[in-house]
Amino acid sequence: MDIGANLKHILEEMTTAAEKAGRPGSAIRLVAVSKYKPALAVTEAAAAGQAIFGENYVQELVAKAAEVTVPVEWHFIGHLQSNKARQIAGLVTMIHSVDRLSLAEEIDRQWGKIGKVCDILVQVNVSGEASKSGTTAAAALTLVKEISQLANVRVRGLMTMPPFFDDPEAARPYFRELRELAATIASEAIPGVAMTELSMGMSGDFKVAIEEGATLVRIGTAIFGDR
Ligand SMILES: *Cc1c(COP(=O)(O)O)cnc(C)c1O
Repeated sequence: MDIGANLKHILEEMTTAAEKAGRPGSAIRLVAVSKYKPALAVTEAAAAGQAIFGENYVQELVAKAAEVTVPVEWHFIGHLQSNKARQIAGLVTMIHSVDRLSLAEEIDRQWGKIGKVCDILVQVNVSGEASKSGTTAAAALTLVKEISQLANVRVRGLMTMPPFFDDPEAARPYFRELRELAATIASEAIPGVAMTELSMGMSGDFKVAIEEGATLVRIGTAIFGDR
């Protein structure tokens, strides 16, 4: 597994997809998803220039972050139990997976204790699949308004995971719906809320996601190999 070569290839594909959509390549950031991969893989990717890493599990993230000695930025992208938020306070720069007010309130409490503000994305279950986390599209605006009242949490945008398809084109309507939902919420001009980030697209469908407006793509296997 040549992590450096994989990264280079993906960044080229990201730029191509962005240009196809008339967007600058610099508008999209790559989150390298390192779940189940060792600290050494993160260090190797960081040496190749990768800055942001995404993790799904609190325990794994805390252990790995202690082992990675080069400076990297961690994003939390998995389902987060409220009682574990404390362990990642100050460690992550963004949480992509906030899907309920009680979790946002706990993040607010924990980041408040360290005198910091946590950037978060609201995860939306656009497809409505029962197996997926995320608030419904219908409830997203209310949730964003409620979270906007919290002093130590700042909403930066939305995140989604569409159903899995063999054909990435099939995911396009879900990515589009997330973009349209973000535009609707942005039009409300809620104080303290930015709708500038759209976290969508993984190894199999990131090009389509970029064409539909992704600003953060979360890519694991295409960088680090199968898990
Ligand atoms: C694992 C994971 C990814 C990365 O998926 P790949 O198909 O390996 O690129 C992205 N987002 C979330 C939320 C994940 O859990």
